[in-house]
Amino acid sequence: MSATIAIVGGGPAGLLAAWQLAEAGHTVALYEAQATMGRKFLVAGHGGFNLSNSEPPAAFAGRYGTRHPEFARYLHLFSPDELRRLLARLGIETFVGTSGRVFPTPNHKPAHVLRAWLDRLRALGVQLHMRHRWLGFGTEPGTHCLRHEATGEEFTIRPDATLLALGGASWAKTGSDGRWLPLLLAAGVECLPFAPANCGAEVAWSAYFREKVGRQPLKNIALRCGSHRVRGELLLTDYGIEGTPVYALTPYLRAALATGEPAFLHLHLKPDLPDAPLRQQLARRPDGTSLASFLSKTLRLGPPVPTLLRELAPAGPLPTTPDALFSLLTALPLPVSALRPLDEAISTAGGVAWDAVDEHLMLRRQPGTFVAGEMLDWEAPTGGYLLQGCFSTGAWAAQGIGEFLRVGRV
Ligand SMILES: Cc1cc2nc3c(=O)[nH]c(=O)nc-3n(C[C@H](O)[C@H](O)[C@H](O)COP(=O)(O)OP(=O)(O)OC[C@H]3O[C@@H](n4cnc5c(N)ncnc54)[C@H](O)[C@@H]3O)c2cc1C
Repeated sequence: MSATIAIVGGGPAGLLAAWQLAEAGHTVALYEAQATMGRKFLVAGHGGFNLSNSEPPAAFAGRYGTRHPEFARYLHLFSPDELRRLLARLGIETFVGTSGRVFPTPNHKPAHVLRAWLDRLRALGVQLHMRHRWLGFGTEPGTHCLRHEATGEEFTIRPDATLLALGGASWAKTGSDGRWLPLLLAAGVECLPFAPANCGAEVAWSAYFREKVGRQPLKNIALRCGSHRVRGELLLTDYGIEGTPVYALTPYLRAALATGEPAFLHLHLKPDLPDAPLRQQLARRPDGTSLASFLSKTLRLGPPVPTLLRELAPAGPLPTTPDALFSLLTALPLPVSALRPLDEAISTAGGVAWDAVDEHLMLRRQPGTFVAGEMLDWEAPTGGYLLQGCFSTGAWAAQGIGEFLRVGRV
């Protein structure tokens, strides 16, 4: 006989689990606090719609840092190829971009993908309950309290198993507001404080710099935090810096900031040019040429680079010796005062601690309740690793629920 499963949270992790469990023949009810499902998925869609990545499995799992052993298992169960096959069953074709990232073909807009997914769930008999907020665990084991946001009615459900897929704590307007964390803590589930991941960093620019430079990209740069180096495009903003290289360095930057000492990123403005030819070019600067004109003509480092060098170089006039200029252009120190606020972050670190779940992602303190997606304490860079991580943990938890229902306990 099929069992009744409650899934709370209509983001990628919950939607994937709902599909798999309904297809396995279970009765699935999906509860979502917002008026519509998948709001953050849609936001991700408008920001590039990078669903996954074609990187080989070992390197892919390595993107999850200290959690790579667990994610290697989750990705093995539900791989990027499996995701692409699943989408193809919805009529959504995908392709691998030049960077290795996986996208839907341009004719498939985010809302189209989400609609096709929800149609499939309805066809499988999944009950979709919008405006239903999870309020916490009930007093009886295995029960959960919910509130119908439209009517204010509060009620208790007693499913055979439950998946909480409540997301992280950024972009609260999408529903991922992290309000669940104190509820889990109150139930004795160990959780770690949320922290911004994949976010911009604050640099205390001078008023002159902010006015003169404003918002401008720096293409083809390398950014380093300690021994970690990333290539990409940096965006100078009035509050600091944004862009893929900063996002990728967030974990190291966060650790550096936590020491209480000033944290520095180091910017390499000509990473494609090997050191020896760069030094040679700098040694050939004609007398009387202004630095700005020399950098622009010889090294194609036009505005805003000269202003940036003046802003960040140690006090006093800019150095003129080739050696000193080489140091500035290859390791310009960027003093970071803070990460941008949590709500602006693309993802969040912190959440449910790994010690709080067993190998099936079931909460040790709440047998029969599983967790998946961003609400678990992991982080990964942008590039499709976030959504794939949510889908794969959703699949893993769904498998764990299947096991739990089959044998009573796992
Ligand atoms: C601007 C932006 C761009 C992004 N771009 C990409 C990208 O290109 N590629 C990529 O891989 N990732 C991207 N991401 C990250 C990705 O969107 C998230 O990692 C992913 O959506 C998390 O999925 P999830 O299912 O864990 O949680 P969510 O998508 O956050 O879904 C959780 C759901 O639970 C609901 N909920 C919360 N609390 C309750 C409650 N108490 N009761 C009932 N329901 C509740 C929420 O309303 C929400 O709908 C982006 C994120 C942002 C913000």
